Amino acid sequence: MDEKGGISVQTEHIFPVIKRWLYSDKDIFLREIVSNACDAVTKLKHLSSIGQAEGIGSDFAVYVRVDRDAGTITVSDNGIGMSAEEVKKYINQIALSGALDFIEKYEGNNEASNSGIIGHFGLGFYSAFMVADTVQIDTKSYTDAPAVLWKGTDEGDYEMTDSAKTDRGTDIIMHIAEDSKEYLDKDRVNRILEKYCAFMPVPVFYEYRAADAKDEAEKPRQINDTEPLWYKRPSDCTDEEYNELYRKLFNDYRDPLFHIHINADYPLNFKGILYFPRLGHEYESLEGQVKLYYNRVFVADNIKEVIPEYLLMLKGVLDCPELPLNVSRSYLQNSGYVQKISQHIVKKVCDKLVSLNDTQPDKYKQFWDDIKAFVEYACIRDRKFYDRVKDAVLFKTVDGEYLTLKEYADRTPEAEQDGVLRVYYASNVTQQTVYINMFKNEGMTVLVLDNLIDNNFITMLESIDNKVKFLRIDSNADALKKPEEHPEDDEGLKKLFADVSGNDKLKVEVSCLKDEKIPALLNISEESRRFAEMLKLYGGPQAKDHEFEEDATLMLNSSNKLIGRLRDDCASGQPSDIDVAIARQIYTLSLLGQRRLSAEELSAFLNDSFGLLERL
Ligand code: ADP
Repeated sequence: MDEKGGISVQTEHIFPVIKRWLYSDKDIFLREIVSNACDAVTKLKHLSSIGQAEGIGSDFAVYVRVDRDAGTITVSDNGIGMSAEEVKKYINQIALSGALDFIEKYEGNNEASNSGIIGHFGLGFYSAFMVADTVQIDTKSYTDAPAVLWKGTDEGDYEMTDSAKTDRGTDIIMHIAEDSKEYLDKDRVNRILEKYCAFMPVPVFYEYRAADAKDEAEKPRQINDTEPLWYKRPSDCTDEEYNELYRKLFNDYRDPLFHIHINADYPLNFKGILYFPRLGHEYESLEGQVKLYYNRVFVADNIKEVIPEYLLMLKGVLDCPELPLNVSRSYLQNSGYVQKISQHIVKKVCDKLVSLNDTQPDKYKQFWDDIKAFVEYACIRDRKFYDRVKDAVLFKTVDGEYLTLKEYADRTPEAEQDGVLRVYYASNVTQQTVYINMFKNEGMTVLVLDNLIDNNFITMLESIDNKVKFLRIDSNADALKKPEEHPEDDEGLKKLFADVSGNDKLKVEVSCLKDEKIPALLNISEESRRFAEMLKLYGGPQAKDHEFEEDATLMLNSSNKLIGRLRDDCASGQPSDIDVAIARQIYTLSLLGQRRLSAEELSAFLNDSFGLLERL
């Protein structure tokens, strides 16, 4: 039955196209050939299950053998095999028409080179010519048809002869071309197999042969797991299995925080496992990695199009048999199906956060610090996300507790004024300790919001709900005041402090604080400080801390003895030198509760302090 031919008159086009366009991603040839081998086994099993193939046995396997000295890679399967007719139909003709379609459609289109569109056109087998100059197909059908040997070259010609093969299945023997010798390297092939074939449905064994290889006696090693976890029911999977898959996929020695197992039915029909990695506070690792599979065959890393940008820190796998095996980025960007997948993922992520908070609140609190920045960012980016998770958004208190906004309101009833919930927070626990202690003494709860993103987050919360107002504890002392007013004339006292501050914009007021020990507090309006912080964030370093002080109010505590003395002195005439020195000292101390002193301020403060000590 010897037959010779040119694969077609037009095939002079095919090989240059394959070589030129797919050059950048040569590795995928192995994926194509090994997945064809797995398909051949799957097809045979299917035929057997419907009674059309008998006695097929159960020992199914695919072998990938590299023989360095012979310069070949052979992929063998014991699947369905092909008759001579089938080789002609599937290899000589079908693939060819696919190839011509391919050329017609994509000639001159660079997009095709990035998308690796080859398999889509039934060109999978021909990708072998990216690395091989000659390819043999030695195949025996599961039927009685005689075995056949096909041999094709990268010149585009082929010949078919009888084969001596007696066992069912197909060997694809690739004679590696001179310029692709790196594919005869043991580790290189191993890496490619582990990347692309790690979850294929038929056991895939890898064997390496080289005369001088030390581990010559090494047995073929199975490189895949035929039952990927994402195909199982979540109730059948253990945490350890989830973590093991994570470590295997991402070489991350740290276990993930938690995972989401997605099993979307018709019409979405995709499966996957997504992990929340342990981010800690290292921002450089914010970029996650979601691997895309097509029926267990690895397709691409980090498919940004399938996951909204604000979820990109997730790691995991998605297996979408509805997507064409070789998808282009532009396809993904414009596909309504992909958008639906993306929405489904968002919903699942939200559900997971809410359910963890409901069912395992202690655990959830434990890793809140790790996921906080991400949740806040997602809420800012997507209002729907916020609406879904709002009951699972936590706030940390200065005492290390975690509360929802509702819990904060419940336990701090005095924070509500005129129907508006005033949420008090500290942005720097050390620096604002004076204020924190005063609030705590009043039995009030203070939150910690010390991340850059917190500012944006609380501004967003306020814009959604005008019944919530976030106030840094040094912006408003209403909660610390005694209700009674002091009608006395404090003008002299106010002037004394306005003078010593050297800040002609400073507002000075006298109030009665519940805490008698504190002589004065400096408050800066929340709005102006937040505005200045934004400017600083976006406008660079020229916006200095001092500019916050434009809208500063010095609150003098009339219940404090020292202030009482100064007020009496001012009311009865000119303040003395020592009054001025004390006032300056009090002002600077209140400033210290707010921020660091500048070099000049600090040296003036030290001099004043020494001066005061001398006068004692
Ligand atoms: P595709 O797999 O996209 O159909 P390919 O070029 O990879 O395109 O393969 C063309 C056809 O050749 C396959 O559909 C299949 O019928 C046949 N084929 C390829 N490899 C094998 C194999 N190992 N065993 C049996 N048939 C195969």
